[in-house]
Amino acid sequence: MPSVFTHEFDTPAYKGKVSFDTGIFLNGKFVDGSDRTTIDVINPTIGKVITAVSEATPKDVDTAVDVAQKAFDTAWGLNCPGTQRSILLAKLARLLEEHADELAALESLNNGKTFHWARNADVAGSIDCIRYYAGWADKISGQVQETSEAKLTYTRHEPIGVVGQIIPWNFPLLMLAWKLGPALATGNTIVLKPSEFTPLTAIRVCHLINEAGFPPGVVNILTGYGNTVGNAISHHMKIEKIAFTGSTLVGRKIMEASSKSNLKDVTLELGGKSPNIIFDDADLDQAVKWAAFGIFWNHGQTCCAGSRIFVQEGIYDEFLKRFTEKARSIKVGDPFHPHTTQGPQVSGIQLNRIMGYIQSGKEAGAKVETGGERHGTEGYFIQPTIFTNTSPDMRIVQEEIFGPVGVVIKFKDEDDVVRQANDTLYGLAAAMFTPNLNRAIRTAHRLKAGTAWVNCINQFDSSVPFGGFKQSGIGREMGEYALHHYTAVKSVHINLGIKL
Ligand code: NAD
Repeated sequence: MPSVFTHEFDTPAYKGKVSFDTGIFLNGKFVDGSDRTTIDVINPTIGKVITAVSEATPKDVDTAVDVAQKAFDTAWGLNCPGTQRSILLAKLARLLEEHADELAALESLNNGKTFHWARNADVAGSIDCIRYYAGWADKISGQVQETSEAKLTYTRHEPIGVVGQIIPWNFPLLMLAWKLGPALATGNTIVLKPSEFTPLTAIRVCHLINEAGFPPGVVNILTGYGNTVGNAISHHMKIEKIAFTGSTLVGRKIMEASSKSNLKDVTLELGGKSPNIIFDDADLDQAVKWAAFGIFWNHGQTCCAGSRIFVQEGIYDEFLKRFTEKARSIKVGDPFHPHTTQGPQVSGIQLNRIMGYIQSGKEAGAKVETGGERHGTEGYFIQPTIFTNTSPDMRIVQEEIFGPVGVVIKFKDEDDVVRQANDTLYGLAAAMFTPNLNRAIRTAHRLKAGTAWVNCINQFDSSVPFGGFKQSGIGREMGEYALHHYTAVKSVHINLGIKL
């Protein structure tokens, strides 16, 4: 039988006992995986096992697809009016709100992000996202096409059916919400796999999905590994659409799987190496604070992190001095402590990967301005790290590190920085700091990125699309744009008088 997860939080940020069934969420019930194996869940703050959750198998994926198809054919899809889907999504948003502190505590425990940000970004953003899509559920409509008086032609935006969704560990709850919201609003049923590193909030949300009253089988959540469960979802012949968030490496595999199976529709939200440009007329105090937020927020585990910080030559020295001081002031430690601004990296694997990048930067001759080492010996902490004296070919300049490691690079003028900023395989986001709006707009339009921030960074809104240019992805999440990826457009022609 699936186990019960129980944890007593006694932290400055959150006190209380949580206790809930875990397991694979299939047809509204928590069950064991078909092999009855489990996955250890680690607390990255101390590097120790918190609990073990059921491990799903490819066979469970087949079962999940069958129950999702049945739910689609009977209780959801075209059999459930948009108003009802809207009511259920709104209920789910309210339940997330009622459990906000508990969910934030679980996220901090499992992912290591600070309770403050878990509560105010991850959980708050998830509530907002589900509520936003509740508003859309009864507003999905096609168009009447004016073709000829002898014909009535119109389009229907029909749900696709069973959709597969695979999400990463950096924003476990938020990525879940970004996936569930548009898929449910448009009437699809879901087979979703959370990251094997961070399954706890997804499992907790399954209880809230039941409590909200979603019909069984509409949402199925399978905790499992990428190369088994993820692979089975991406190759499945009865899943017509897959939405993936994660690394570019795995994104390629998802596309390949689609082309080798049933040509399922694919949307990909992938990695980044986003430029953050500080022009010489920027408000330096604000630019330093935002630049630190850009790279160090969520411990650098943000797909759109401003990891390449370009600073105009006239202010370079002063910016670097202040930015380094700011990085040194970051309080690394227990994510539940109110003064902590940076918790641990999510896993030992990530810790080693990031330390490998830091080592490669050192060996390539870059200068460590601050940080560059592991923080402490327990858990997976890394010092906020800034490199200078880099060259464009270095791995730390080209590759996504996904940790608290930024490179600061000097530039001359707009042309120079646009050329350098665009010199990457990625194109997820870009930020710039200048009070000169002409310059900001010119630059925003010249950068090859799905999002351009002016005088801010890492800002999201449920109504604003998010996604990448180049190898940062395909398609858009959030906003009205995301809905289009979850509907199939059908054109209907009705003959009103054409005679043969
Ligand atoms: P990852 O690609 O290793 O894993 C993501 C998910 O894919 C996990 O659930 C994993 O189990 C699964 N997976 C792994 N191998 C698979 C396979 N062969 N087939 C199917 N699924 C498989 O990424 P991660 O380390 O969990 O997350 C970090 C990455 O996610 C970073 O590159 C980051 O930039 C990206 N990300 C992008 C966005 C965005 O919106 N663009 C948002 C968050 C994270």
